Amino acid sequence: MLEAPVNTLLLATSNPHKVEEVAATLRPLGWQICTLQDVADGRPLPSEPIEDAPDFEGNAAIKAKAYAAWSGIPTLADDSGLEVDALGGAPGVHSARWSGVDGDRATRDAANNQKLVEALQTTPQVERSARFVCVLCLAEPNGVVRHMVRGMMEGHITTDPRGENGFGYDPHLMLPEGQTSAELSPDEKNNRSHRGQACRALALALGQAIDPQR
Ligand code: IMP
Repeated sequence: MLEAPVNTLLLATSNPHKVEEVAATLRPLGWQICTLQDVADGRPLPSEPIEDAPDFEGNAAIKAKAYAAWSGIPTLADDSGLEVDALGGAPGVHSARWSGVDGDRATRDAANNQKLVEALQTTPQVERSARFVCVLCLAEPNGVVRHMVRGMMEGHITTDPRGENGFGYDPHLMLPEGQTSAELSPDEKNNRSHRGQACRALALALGQAIDPQR
């Protein structure tokens, strides 16, 4: 296992986009972010914990606690998704696998986006308000949850996807300025996104803007 310096956090996700987005905010504040692959160092990863909580906070805690216990390193887990008001908050915690289609991330994202377009086909644009939500949970190896923070990015769903950046539902979340989340550069997305906000809230909670060497 990795010998981790005190300012290291394990980011418990297999999504490289999340790693980039979280690291872009926390690294400049003095935190080293390591990944599951760094810790496993060629050994097999443990099986993923079952995310069966009814909310983002519950699922983030399940993941953070499981991987902190496995790694012995304070662990940050992101649980995130899209909430569409006209769909009663769906897909919500089911965002990643909403369509039920298996396959790689790109295949699942395409199927989810197709389901989203179909679900909102007859919903007028003014009723398509939606938001991305990101909850970050930081857990210690002994199971204690140190911090739980939440960020959101509001917009509405366009059935006409635009933009090449990001992942998941990004091409369908139209922001108030008239760009989709997938049309933002990585820096622009981090500056305003649900995940960027949650990272900055976490950094504040850690007192990290002041002293990276805890
Ligand atoms: P999780 O990995 O279980 O947290 O699932 C998150 C899912 O929510 C992703 O697979 C995406 O479908 C969606 N999602 C979360 N954050 C974003 C984002 O920043 N852009 C687009 N889709 C997102």
